[in-house]
Amino acid sequence: MKFNCIKTIVVAVASMISLNSFSQDLVARQAPIDKKFKSVDSLALHKQIKAEQTEWPAFDLYPNWSNVNAHNYATVTVPESYTIDLRGFCMPTAQTRITSPFGPRRRRMHNGLDVKVYVGDTIRSAFDGKVRIVRTERRGYGQYVVIRHDNGLETVYGHLSKQLVKENQQVRAGDVIGLGGNTGRSTGSHLHFETRFLGIPIDPALLFNFPKQDIVADAYTFKRGEINTKTAAGTYIAVGKDGVIRYHKVKSGDTLSKIANRRGISIDTLCRLNRITRKTILRPGQILRCS
Ligand SMILES: [Zn+2]
Repeated sequence: MKFNCIKTIVVAVASMISLNSFSQDLVARQAPIDKKFKSVDSLALHKQIKAEQTEWPAFDLYPNWSNVNAHNYATVTVPESYTIDLRGFCMPTAQTRITSPFGPRRRRMHNGLDVKVYVGDTIRSAFDGKVRIVRTERRGYGQYVVIRHDNGLETVYGHLSKQLVKENQQVRAGDVIGLGGNTGRSTGSHLHFETRFLGIPIDPALLFNFPKQDIVADAYTFKRGEINTKTAAGTYIAVGKDGVIRYHKVKSGDTLSKIANRRGISIDTLCRLNRITRKTILRPGQILRCS
């Protein structure tokens, strides 16, 4: 009796152990499968997000990608304030002498600055990005290149003697994009260099110090209507004022405050427009109304 009882206990314990190890084994076998599903899922999502981002640089700032016009952002939504990351820059030329600054000049607006370069000098992309325009304007820029960058800027390189990139080509900061020249409306070889944000010209001297061959600071904060803009309030339309409803597609890493900052609206407005709260968790791919 005593023996039997002990035996039963032993069997019971043994079966418990084996059941336990069996169920643990199940869990152990299951875990990697779960993990695998998860990693495949996030990989696919990551790929999709990446594909969308590489469609054009600064995808969520610019409404489109087009090779038609050098400047055509009349109806674009300009955030009230936007910080442009200047790290990862490369000086477009090793030359240091400014021959004509940004600003009004002979009753026309000079939307860039001129740096003395010689015919054949190497001209480089200022940041990573994608070439949008490679064209010749006989009476204007001459042979020129426009690049849209990941940091939200577009740069223009004018009066080149040779263009060495193609439209829609991806470039890295420092890649050679052309050679210095004297084409177009130009007297004497020089590089006409423009930095624009959503089409609005910013004085390149606020970003780049050519004599010192360096950036002025790690970042530049663009403020709508405050800085050296040709157009003041004229050619762009503030969020919502045009009656156009703007949307934002949530990217991985986006937060309500990031989106609100980028779109130039308050977090409260963003929440109200989308009937969400500050605690709502955003999902990549989710569409938010921004005006
Ligand atoms: Zn110029």
